[in-house]
Parts: sequence; C-alpha cells; structure tokens
Amino acid sequence: MATAVREISHFIGSASTAGTGARRSDVFDPNTGKVQAQVTLGVQADLDAAMGNALRAQPSWAATNPQRRARVMFAFKALIENHMDELAHLLSSEHGKVIADAKGDIQRGLEVIEFACGIPHVLKGEYTQGAGPGIDVYSMRQPLGVVAGITPFNFPAMIPMWMFGIAIACGNAFILKPSERDPSVPVRLAELMLEAGAPEGILQVVQGDKEMVDAILDHPEIKAVSFVGSSDIAHYVYRRGVDAGKRVQAMGGAKNHGIVMPDADLDQVVNDLAGAAFGSAGERCMALPVVVPVGEKTAIALREKLLPAIQGLRVGVSTDAEAHYGPVVTAAHKAKIESYIQMGVEEGAELVVDGRGFSLQGHEDGFFVGPTLFDRVTPQMRTYQEEIFGPVLQMVRADSFEDALRLPSEHPYGNGVAIFTRNGHAAREFAARVNVGMVGINVPIPVPVAYHTFGGWKRSAFGDTNQHGMEGVKFFTKVKTITQRWPDGSPDGGNAFVIPTMG
Ligand code: NAD
Repeated sequence: MATAVREISHFIGSASTAGTGARRSDVFDPNTGKVQAQVTLGVQADLDAAMGNALRAQPSWAATNPQRRARVMFAFKALIENHMDELAHLLSSEHGKVIADAKGDIQRGLEVIEFACGIPHVLKGEYTQGAGPGIDVYSMRQPLGVVAGITPFNFPAMIPMWMFGIAIACGNAFILKPSERDPSVPVRLAELMLEAGAPEGILQVVQGDKEMVDAILDHPEIKAVSFVGSSDIAHYVYRRGVDAGKRVQAMGGAKNHGIVMPDADLDQVVNDLAGAAFGSAGERCMALPVVVPVGEKTAIALREKLLPAIQGLRVGVSTDAEAHYGPVVTAAHKAKIESYIQMGVEEGAELVVDGRGFSLQGHEDGFFVGPTLFDRVTPQMRTYQEEIFGPVLQMVRADSFEDALRLPSEHPYGNGVAIFTRNGHAAREFAARVNVGMVGINVPIPVPVAYHTFGGWKRSAFGDTNQHGMEGVKFFTKVKTITQRWPDGSPDGGNAFVIPTMG
C-alpha cells in the first residue's frame, strides 16, 4: 500500500494552506535520492488570496512607527537563534548542504535582519533649512506597498532574508516565492515572523514554478520584484517585470575566478580554494570554480599541492559532521554536472580528477558528485564560459598579471573574483581595474557583510540596485522630496512665471 507523501503548502494569511493549484512537484532527500515530500505548485488564485491579505495589512504596517517595526525584527532574530538547529536540519535535508554550512546559510540571512533592527536610523530623511528665502527642503523614504521575492534553491534561508528583512522593516508587505526544490525553510521563516509580531499578511509564501512567477510579474499591485537565480531566468524576470511597470532587481549566475600570483602563500591558497570550489558541492553563486595561476611555475606548484587536498576531501551525507560537502540538490542537477565533465573531456581539457560515478556506501541512490579537477582549460571552451554549479574546479593557466586580469574581466559573468598575492600594489591595481562586482583580496568568497551590499556585474545582475545594506533600503522604498515655504503674509513680488532658481 502506498503511503501518503508529506505535502508542503503555501503560507497565506496566518496558516499553511493547500491552495487551489492541482499540480505538485517532488521534493527529494538528496542523501537518499528518495522523494520526501511534494510541494504545491500555486496558481493565480493563490497569489490573489495572498495579495488580498497583503493589501489589507500593509497600510497600517507602514504607519507603525519604525521602532516598533524594528522590535519585530529583534524578536524574529531571537526566534531564529532559538530554532537554529531545527532550521539547519530542515534546510540540509532538502538542499543537501552539510549542517554547519546550513547554519552559515541561516546566519548570513540573520545578519541582514540585524541590519534591519537599525531601520529607524536608516530611514531618517534629509533636510535643508533655508534652501531659499524662507524655504526648507526635506525628503522621506516611503515603502512601495506590496513587494515580492523569487529565490533560488541554493540559499533557501539567506536569500529570502536578504530581501524580506529589509522590505518588511521599511514598511512593505512581502510575498515570497521560494525555490520548489527546497521550500520548507521559507514556510518556517514566515511562521516565525508571525510569531515575532508581524501582522498577518506581512510575510507570506506562495509556492510554485514559472506559472506563479509569471502571475507575480504581471500582478498590477506588486510594486517591486527582487529575483535571484540563473541568468537566463533573471533576464526574463527583469524584462517582464519592467514591462509591467515594476521595479526589478534580478541577480543571475556566476563563474568566479581566483587569480593566484607567483608570490601567493600556496598552502593558504589551497586551503581557501578547496573550501571555495567544493564547499556546498560548488552550489554557491560565490563559489570559486576557476583558478588562474600566473606563470608556469605557479601552475605546477599549485597543481602539486591541490591534488592531495582534493583527494583528501570527504564527501558524505549532509548530517555527517566530518563531511566537507554533501550531495547536490537533484538527480537532474547531478546529471547536468556530469555532462559538463564529459563536455570538458571532449573539448580537450585535461581531466586530472574525475568525480563522476561517485557512490557513497549505503547511499548509492544519493545525488553525490565527487570532486573534479580540470587543468589546461581555455577561454574558448563552453565548459569555461558556462556555469556548471557543481564540485568542479577548472584551472586556466595565465602567462602574466595582465592575462589573468583579462580573463574575469572579459567573462560574460561578473559576480565575484579573488586575487591571492602578498603584493599590495598588484592587489590594488587588480581591484581597481577588474570588470567584476565583488572582489576578494586573499579572501576566496568575498560575500560582503550585511551592512554593505551584494551584487555582481554583467550577466550576473540585471537592474542597477544591489541586495541588502543601503542599496536594499533604496530598492524597497521610494523617495519623496518636499519643498516648503510658510509665508509671513508680506507679498514677495517675484515673477511667478519664471522657473524659481536659487540664484
Ligand atoms: P533557477 O533560475 O532555476 O530558479 C530561480 C527561481 O526562478 C526559482 O524560484 C524558480 O522556481 C524560478 N524559475 C525557474 N524556472 C523558471 C522559468 N522558466 N520562468 C520563471 N521562473 C522560473 O535557479 P536555481 O537553480 O534555483 O539557483 C541556482 C542559480 O542561482 C545559479 O545560476 C546561481 O549562480 C544563481 N544564484 C545567484 C546568486 C546571486 O546573487 N547572483 C545567488 C544565489 C544563486
């Protein structure tokens, strides 16, 4: 007899609800390869139900003074901390990242909530007294109304919090459409936000795929959409959302390079690279899947040190505290990564370590991919130009600093880049000249802290506003500027037909 499979639903109003859509999508346990639940794929009517709640709740939330809104953020922060273990296990069980890394995912989101606790300070406007005779000018930031976020599978806690932490603190109502591959943690976050004191309708979750995304993009009452995912979809979301008159920020894929200068501390580099290339099975938009040693000697020495480090990596189930990384998210993603490895071989790259066919005893059906290393990859190869998003490190040898600088600068993606060197001048030159949005100097994964902002360049981001920090506040608010005069009653005699100037 078939047992009923657990169902993951929307969070609309103040409760989980199955909604009206008939379609479902499987949610796997990547450790075993088995279906562990099914997520409801929502339709327009489900979005409309959420919109009704959001539109009702938002005006009074916006009118709630910012300190009170901040207190909800403080309470939410405490709740997340109290539920850290539960959330990390839930996240890991659907995503496949190891527990310590799942905690990091939650913690990096929480740091944006900490920033949002300071929202009263951040929302203070500007004021000029005496901008003209008897004239003052001031500005205020007001929330947009109801806004939405569409998020990828690879950070199911951090990326939603990047968005809704700021949006809600600014006085908006937020509708989240998480990835259908790991949809449970977003629902828990919405439950905890309600428990923290956010009114019903201020944070809701609608589950779904393209159908729900399109409904969000076309909905006339959704004023802004924040998207993070792959580049083709990001571009699509950007265009369709802007056509519908919305504000859109859409972050896309990545292919981050790590430049290794001849004077770099290679032991440190190898340690950093192993984590940045293979951590979370390479499923990070700030992973370092391309390493660029400068000069033949550096390449030989680096490869010599990298090999034992890669061979020493422990791939295990996501609850294995000793594992460096766990399975990838789905069988389809595993097949895609393995097909890229095959393509690399066919394109003529040297396959030094082959992670295909990796099998973990007792978990033979899990979605595991062993660590893979390619050497002598060239910029013409498709496997270099495209994002693989798996535990695959590609070495591209460069002759000089200028060669190395050109590679990430000319690559279609421009999310992050790192340079490893002891030479401050080279690092400074590199940071100033490289055509990439986020730069690490001896820092392999330069994800900026919450009070700075996150965003790549070129095909890694469409739109012009970054995530979180002040850029996030700008994205989720609109500026109103007031010019005021309180005449004392005496006529000023100016020519009202000429545009006023401050001359
Ligand atoms: P994805 O593009 O497949 O999915 C992202 C979201 O878009 C999901 O919510 C999904 O349901 C929705 N979606 C999928 N197909 C769609 C379609 N045809 N039309 C409309 N919506 C659709 O991305 P993913 O596989 O979940 O996440 C991995 C990708 O995200 C990688 O490319 C990674 O580099 C990128 N990413 C980027 C950043 C960044 O900040 N730049 C951060 C994390 C992940």
